[in-house]
Amino acid sequence: MDEIVANTKRARSTASGPRLSFAEPITALPGVAEKRAELLHVLGLFTIRDLLYHFPRAYQDRRVLTRITDIQEGNTVTIEAEVVKARAIHLRRRLSMADVTLRDASGEIRAIWFGQDYLARVLKPGSRGFFTGAAGAWKGLALRNPDYELHSGDEEDRMNSGRIVPVYRLTEGVSQRMLRRLVRTALDLAEPPDESLPHAQREAHGFPGAHEALRQAHFPDAIDSGERAKSRFAYEELLGIQLGVLAARAKRHLEHKRHRHIVDGPHLRALRAALPFALTQGQQRAVTDILGDMASHRPMVRLLQGDVGCGKTLVALHAIATACDGGYQSALMAPTEILAEQHGIHLREFLAPLGLEVAVLTGSTENAKAVRARIASGATTVIVGTHALLQEATAFHKLGLVIIDEQHRFGVVQRAALHAKGLDPELLHMTATPIPRTLAITVYGGMDLSIIDELPPGRTPVKTRRITPAKTPGLYDYLRRQAAAGYQTYYVCPLVEESAARQLTAVTTHFAELSTGPLSGMRTAMIHGRLPSSEKGDVMHRFKRGEIDVLFSTTVIEVGIDCPNATTMVIEDAAQFGLTQLHQLRGRVGRGPAQSYCFLLGKPVTADGKRRLEILCESSSGFDIAEADLEMRGPGEFQGLRQAGLSDLRVADLVRDVRLLDAARRDAQNILAMDPTLTRTEHALLAEAARRFEAVNT
Ligand code: ADP
Ligand code: MG
Repeated sequence: MDEIVANTKRARSTASGPRLSFAEPITALPGVAEKRAELLHVLGLFTIRDLLYHFPRAYQDRRVLTRITDIQEGNTVTIEAEVVKARAIHLRRRLSMADVTLRDASGEIRAIWFGQDYLARVLKPGSRGFFTGAAGAWKGLALRNPDYELHSGDEEDRMNSGRIVPVYRLTEGVSQRMLRRLVRTALDLAEPPDESLPHAQREAHGFPGAHEALRQAHFPDAIDSGERAKSRFAYEELLGIQLGVLAARAKRHLEHKRHRHIVDGPHLRALRAALPFALTQGQQRAVTDILGDMASHRPMVRLLQGDVGCGKTLVALHAIATACDGGYQSALMAPTEILAEQHGIHLREFLAPLGLEVAVLTGSTENAKAVRARIASGATTVIVGTHALLQEATAFHKLGLVIIDEQHRFGVVQRAALHAKGLDPELLHMTATPIPRTLAITVYGGMDLSIIDELPPGRTPVKTRRITPAKTPGLYDYLRRQAAAGYQTYYVCPLVEESAARQLTAVTTHFAELSTGPLSGMRTAMIHGRLPSSEKGDVMHRFKRGEIDVLFSTTVIEVGIDCPNATTMVIEDAAQFGLTQLHQLRGRVGRGPAQSYCFLLGKPVTADGKRRLEILCESSSGFDIAEADLEMRGPGEFQGLRQAGLSDLRVADLVRDVRLLDAARRDAQNILAMDPTLTRTEHALLAEAARRFEAVNT
C-alpha cells in the first residue's frame, strides 16, 4: 500500500516536473523574498499551504463593468474609473469620512467611506482602478464604502478584470493584486493536495475533490462554484472539530473511575430537607443530570449554563453534598475574591447546619497556612477560592469534585491544574455567559451540557430604558426616591480615570461630581479595579448590608453578585460595552420581588452601538442576546473561542455555516460509529485534525 502511494508520487512528479510541496515556505515562490514574506506573515501566511488555504472572503464578478451614467440607486456595480478629487471630512466627534469623485468616459459619481478618512490620501487624483459597491443616496448618488483596487499599470490587470476575481483579506503592504498573483502561481506550481475528505462524505454532500475545490475556491468559473468550494473546506474544518470533541467524549465514556457515588446519602437528604424553596424545573433537570453522572462509572465533565440569577449555586450544592456522602472533598473556584467570598457565605449557610466545614482561600486570606493545613488533613470538606487554589502549597486530602464558576474566565491550563489535584474528580463547569448553540457544540461539544432556562419565581423582569442627557435630572430624582424607599443603585462607568485618548465617563470624576452635586446627601461610594482588594471587599460588604444607596463602579462589580435589594442599574456610555456584557451588568438587578430598572446613558456613535442598545431594551433573554451578539460581532470575538483553539478556523463561519455544522456533527457521529479510533486509511487526515481539538475539550 505504502509502496503504491510512493510510486504514484514519483510518477506525478516526473510527469509534470518537480512540484512545490505544501509544507514549503512561501519564499519558495518566485517573487517572494524575505521582505514580502514578512508582510505575508502578518496575515498568518508562512507556507504554501497557508497561502492556498487563505480563501477569498468574497468574489467580484468583473465580467460586467457598469458605465457610471447607467448606475441607479440600489444597484451593486463595478466601475472602472479615475479619481478626480478626494477629501477627508469630519462629520462630528469621532466620525469622519472620505469623499472621492470618480470619472469614466460616461460621467462622474462620488464614492464615500465612513470612518476611513485616510482613503482621501490613498486615492490620489489621477489614479485609476476598479470600484465595486452599492449605490445609495448621500447628497446625491454615491457608492457607499466600495471595495476598490487601483491599477498598477502592468499586464497583470487581466487577472484582475473581465472575470470573477477573488477578494482576499489584506494587510498593510499586501494588495489584492499581489495575493491573486501569488495564489495563481502557487496553484500552478504546488503538488496536488492529498484528499482529506472520505469519498462517502464528498459524495453525500456533492463536494468537489480537494484539488478542484482549491482551484475553484480561488478562481471560480461561477460565483456559485467558488462558494461551493469554500463550503467544502468549511465542512472539512467543522468535521475535524466535531470528530475531535466527540472522540474525546467517547474516550471518557470508556473510562472507569474509582468511585461511583451513591446519590441518596445522608448529606444530600439533609440538604433537600433544609431547602427553603422548591427547585425550578431547570434546576431540577440539571441536578438529575449531575447526580446521574456522579452515580455512573465515568467521571462527570459537564457544563452548567444558565443566565445570571437562575440559581446555579444551589445546583452545585447538590453535587457537593453527594461528594461528601462519598467521603470526598469539593473545591469551587471563582474568578474573583468577591465572588469566592459570596459563594463561601452561601455554601456555609446550607452546609454548616449539615456539620460540614467550608473554607475560603484567596490571595488575601490571612491565616492561609492554617486553612491549608485543614484542607490537607481533610478537616475541611468544602473549599471555595480563587486562583489561590491552584498554588502548589494548596494540597487536598481527597478531592473528588471540582466546580469552576464562570469557567470561561479561566484558561484550559488553569482548569486542568485544579483537576489534577483531585482523584479522578467529577468536573462541573458553570457559566452565566449564554453561548449560542452553534458555539456550545463546537467549543464545548465534548462536555455534556445542562441548561437552566428559567429564573426562580418571584422575580419581576428588569425594565430597560434609554436616557437622553435632557432627562438625567429626572434620573437623579428617581435614584433619590428609590433610596428613600430603601432600594439601592449600581452606577457603572466605563473608565477609572479620565483619559485623553477615550472621551468616556470616568468613575472617579463622575463619583466626585454627582455625590457632591445632584446626589448630595445620599450615601454614595465607589469601587474600581485599582483599589486594593481589601477595600473593594469592604465596599461590597457595606453595599450588601444596605449601607450604601448608590455604588459607583467600573465593571468590577461581578457577574453573580447577589444583592436582591439593588433595583436600579445605571450604565454610562452604555454603547461602549458589548451586548453580553451589558446583559450581565443588568443581571445584577432584578434579583428581588421589586420592579427593577436598567438605564442606558450616552449617545451611541456607531450604528452597531445603537443596535446593541435597542436589542437590550427589547429582549431580556440571555440566549437571544447571545445569538444577536454572535451575529453582530462574529465568533472571533467570542469569549473562550481563542482558548478553545478556534481562532484556527480559516473558512468556517459559525454564524453562516450552522447547517454545515449540523451536518458535520452528524457525519462525525457516523464516522466514529464505524471507526471509533479513526485508524482507517481514508480517515488518516481527519484523525490528525481531530487530535488538535481533542486536547482542549477536557
Ligand atoms: P447564579 O449563580 O445562577 O447567578 P445564584 O445561585 O446566585 O444564581 O442564585 C441567585 C439567587 O436566587 C440566590 O439568592 C438564590 O438563593 C436564589 N434562588 C436560587 N434558586 C431558587 C429557587 N428555586 N427559588 C427561589 N430562589 C432561588
Ligand atoms: Mg453565580
